[in-house]
Amino acid sequence: MEMGNIISVLFGAMIGSFLNVCICRLPKEESIVTPGSHCPQCQKPIRWYDNIPLVSYLVLRGKCRHCHQPISVQYPLVEGIAALLSFFLFIRFGPSLSYLFYFAFAAALVVITVIDLYHQIIPDVISLPGIGVGLLASWILPQASVVNALVGVLLGGGSLFVVATVYEWLFKREGMGGGDVKLLAMIGAFLGWKAVILTILLGSLIGSIVGITVMILKGRDFKLAIPFGPFLSLGALISLFWGEGLIHWYLYMNR
Ligand SMILES: [Zn+2]
Repeated sequence: MEMGNIISVLFGAMIGSFLNVCICRLPKEESIVTPGSHCPQCQKPIRWYDNIPLVSYLVLRGKCRHCHQPISVQYPLVEGIAALLSFFLFIRFGPSLSYLFYFAFAAALVVITVIDLYHQIIPDVISLPGIGVGLLASWILPQASVVNALVGVLLGGGSLFVVATVYEWLFKREGMGGGDVKLLAMIGAFLGWKAVILTILLGSLIGSIVGITVMILKGRDFKLAIPFGPFLSLGALISLFWGEGLIHWYLYMNR
């Protein structure tokens, strides 16, 4: 493997470690800088050699060195996913600004997904600056255009806002949070308006399949408390990697 590819994996895993800190602290509105990492069970500080992404989890066999309580699989999972995303984006874009911007976007989606799964919220501190960063990127990146990104923000935010409002009006209860609206606006800023449509289609499709599967397994009366954010995030990642291919395929198929 080339040196650059190896560095992209290590860099991704390191950022993944930081994403874990964000996932744990952002919902509690704690600082993501201080204090240093500590065990959530016994509060003991984690030394640097116990904080090496992926490696430490294996060396410690998934248990805290001091209190021997299990460490959540969230830690190695997020580190591994971040490493893979960094690797595949590096292969696609090479050492470039595009790589950094799209990896930042993918990393934000990972944090949003895990926080939404735990707490059913999408923090504004990620999605709102994300819209700004995405618009800025569209001005700099060769793959993007400002107009496309702006239309993406409006379409992403607007369409879900309409769906959510109609849903609330019809069923007299909130079906989709405002967090999803801002998330889709952020996705539009980074990927443009076509990807917004693709993301909604993919997110709804995957969400329905998962939802129906859960209902079959748990019984029809099972109250669905599955947040939409993770499916939108997954749809956005698929759009990022394969969006153009999927859109081409769709257009050809319908000729
Ligand atoms: Zn501990």
